[in-house]
Amino acid sequence: MKGLGVSPGIVMGQVYVDWKEQLEIEKDYVDDAEGEVERLNLAVATASEEIRQLYAGETVVVDKDEAGPDLYRVHGIMLGDPEFLGEIRDMIVAQNVNAEWAVKTVAEKFAQVFENMDNDCLKARADDVKDVSARVCRLLLHIEGGDLLKDEREGLILVCKSMGTAEISLIQKNNIVGLVCEEGTIGSHATIMARNQHKPAVVGLSGVADDVYHGDFIIVDGNNGDVFINPDEETIRECRARQKRESLFQEQLRSFAGRPACSADGVLLKVYGNAASDADIKSIVEVDGHGVGLYRTEYIYLTRAHLPAEGEQFWEYKKAMLAMKGRPVVFRTLDIGGDKIPSYLSMPEEKNPALGHRAIRYSLSRVDIFRSQIKAILRASAYGDVSILLPLISAIDEVRSAKNVIDDVKEELRREGTPFNPRTKVGVVVETPSAAVISDLIARECDFLSIGSNDLIQYTMAVDRLAAALSYLYSPFSPSVLRLVQTTIKNAATAGKPVSLCGEMAGDPLLSPILFGMGLRSFSVNPFEMLRTQWILSLLKTEEMRACADEVLNLATAEEIHRYCREHFSRFVSGDYVPTEQ
Ligand code: PEP
Ligand code: MG
Repeated sequence: MKGLGVSPGIVMGQVYVDWKEQLEIEKDYVDDAEGEVERLNLAVATASEEIRQLYAGETVVVDKDEAGPDLYRVHGIMLGDPEFLGEIRDMIVAQNVNAEWAVKTVAEKFAQVFENMDNDCLKARADDVKDVSARVCRLLLHIEGGDLLKDEREGLILVCKSMGTAEISLIQKNNIVGLVCEEGTIGSHATIMARNQHKPAVVGLSGVADDVYHGDFIIVDGNNGDVFINPDEETIRECRARQKRESLFQEQLRSFAGRPACSADGVLLKVYGNAASDADIKSIVEVDGHGVGLYRTEYIYLTRAHLPAEGEQFWEYKKAMLAMKGRPVVFRTLDIGGDKIPSYLSMPEEKNPALGHRAIRYSLSRVDIFRSQIKAILRASAYGDVSILLPLISAIDEVRSAKNVIDDVKEELRREGTPFNPRTKVGVVVETPSAAVISDLIARECDFLSIGSNDLIQYTMAVDRLAAALSYLYSPFSPSVLRLVQTTIKNAATAGKPVSLCGEMAGDPLLSPILFGMGLRSFSVNPFEMLRTQWILSLLKTEEMRACADEVLNLATAEEIHRYCREHFSRFVSGDYVPTEQ
């Protein structure tokens, strides 16, 4: 099967289909309602036992007082709740319907009640109701399939229908090594997560989740979008040979680990890593990276069932600082909305979520949440070189409001006598055309800029980064995007402020030479791309690349720019070059 390769590499393993993907519940009428209630009772008892075992020893909490309720307790209570169960049983008896239909209907009603609540913690219970009822329905329907919390097999490849917050969490599990999805785009956060963790991924394979069985053998080639289900020996041999060539190339790149980045004519550069989890930080440490140029803190929020308290966040940030041993870490403040919505937060329903209440806009509307995050980051600044990065700024007023909150929190820390670095730098992500156009003004108001090309493409081209049908417009090669990037680099230089680029474009082997030619000296890329980026930059000469950048900026279409870059830099993609010794 052929799809779109969105995370490079070749991987083989067993298909893992989450059982929730297979849950299809239909209404049926039954003759024996009492027998149906018995069936329900049995499923509830089995689900209770499963949940007990599942979460036994699961809840590891840093600061007991500040943690939210643990999942086992919540799920267990739901299954023992007489009101919830009573209503299901009543429905079966009164309407003579099948148990799974009654569970689904009553659970939807309960979930809706929780969803309508203002309190974030209670709102999160909606997901618990859905999870518990899905478990009971699975038992009623005898659905086989994986449950990652219990699955101890290694080398699993997740096959799913769509990529939402749940799949983002699944991808982070160690035993998931690759990903195949019916939907998805190169710019979605689930695929960025796959690339960050070097898990090959192919998307856009319509019907694939129905074509495979849990446990099938599968090969995923994220380089060119090929997926082989139960392939023959010949295909396996070919893929193994390609895997071997790739790992040889990676071995050769190892010689760049721990070395300063430098162009062929001696310009000093920085290659930082993008992180969203402990695993990413570990990967950055493994290649001896220069620091973390973008820490996507929202994953601390997305991977929990409750709003992380200040103490929990502080622990996460401090852990990163200690791991990086004095190297800089840039913490981007909460960037939620769009495809990243924690279930427990009250977010308004919006027609255009990408243009709506996300990132800094959300933080400034929930100053309680923002303050707690800023306080945790500032506390972590006592443990190393910390910077704060503000996402989705589109107007100067937002920078000023955020800085007021930061100053206020600093005052509070001083009053309390809590140690922090008062000179913690504050930067702005330039990811809206508005911010790029006024980047000269923004640069005056902050300490550094970081270009977020993933969103800059989305907003410049006015194309939803999650819209597969329009992905032909979502291109980092678009002339308008590249011109805005260049404007921002120039404005930062004029203002004497450092500028970095932390979107996926920075690690694109066809584009990093052009960015260097435009004057970019700091690249923040996914951990797996760090050494390759260092290698590519080590082969470039300033004047030559400046000339290339000038040529590219005069081309009229994304296709022409892509062709130009392929003609000049495709050797960096194939990795045919053995890295040179510096
Ligand atoms: C970006 O928009 O380029 C970026 C780095 O952030 P994210 O992909 O998380 O939106
Ligand atoms: Mg962004």
